[in-house]
Amino acid sequence: MIKHLGLKAYGKINLGLDVLRRREDGYHEVRMIMQTVGIFDRVDLIWKAEPGIQVETNLYYLPTNENNLVYKAANLLMSEFHVKEGLTIRLKKFIPVAAGMAGGSSDAAAVLFGVNKMFQLGLTTKQLMERGVKIGADVPYCILRGTALSEGIGEILTPLPPMPQCQVLIAKPAISVSTKFVYENLHANDLRPDEHPDIDGIIAAIHRKDIYGVSGKLGNVLETVTVREYPIIQEIKDKLLEHGAIGSLMSGSGPTVFGLFTNPHAAQTAYEAMRFGEDSKLAKQVYLTNFYNQKENFHGA
Ligand code: ATP
Repeated sequence: MIKHLGLKAYGKINLGLDVLRRREDGYHEVRMIMQTVGIFDRVDLIWKAEPGIQVETNLYYLPTNENNLVYKAANLLMSEFHVKEGLTIRLKKFIPVAAGMAGGSSDAAAVLFGVNKMFQLGLTTKQLMERGVKIGADVPYCILRGTALSEGIGEILTPLPPMPQCQVLIAKPAISVSTKFVYENLHANDLRPDEHPDIDGIIAAIHRKDIYGVSGKLGNVLETVTVREYPIIQEIKDKLLEHGAIGSLMSGSGPTVFGLFTNPHAAQTAYEAMRFGEDSKLAKQVYLTNFYNQKENFHGA
């Protein structure tokens, strides 16, 4: 019997994010190019004999009750399969919170994977993904990972060939951006054609393994709202380009910005300037990482 599982829940960035329209039911139809990056939260699952789900986390401001996505994920499967035993979930966050990197969704995905394994529920990846969408639109993708096109409300996924490797500098400014605010102010049905990113062009460049083709077309329609409201997002984008990034973009609904670098020296210099040096006032959290393209499992934490 498995009594302990150590899992890594990876974050994502969007190489492209388009919103096609707002549906009658209020959901937005999206077309997003998702890419897993090497920043992860640690999720430890510890079996216990007594029933119940207990959540512990290193961030005091995150809920530890049923509002935490890891709780929701465990509860979803354990209720459905009438699991008699209990579970302690230890969550150590490294992915910036409420930042557009799907941290909570990825934690939930890791818990779905782990609970399925620990209690031998026998669900396939596809079945886990079907359940995951009930927790959040990005959860199915976080189970799949790698490079993928995400459509519908995020639940229709098409895997894409892995991106050519490069350095990814991630910078989150010290502001909070509500996803709800961004979508409410988007007016998705009134966007001009030129405000939509060229998602098909990005897909074609990914198929050609053309990193410059991708970086030249990076686009996120949600920037039309956030950059106007929070100029620091544009400032960080410009700074990363100044430091030699081949492209930079806001991820998800922000405020996290990333820059892609093919020159490791430039990436390191940019990281040091953003993290410790003259540009360190721009961002609160700064990471230098890569694309993460392995899909096998969530292990190795
Ligand atoms: P997305 O890219 O999907 O928009 P995000 O990066 O904007 O995700 P998250 O970090 O996943 O947002 O979390 C957003 C909110 O969800 C937080 O304000 C937090 O209170 C709540 N939350 C619940 N569970 C978690 C979790 N495990 N990790 C982070 N946030 C969580």
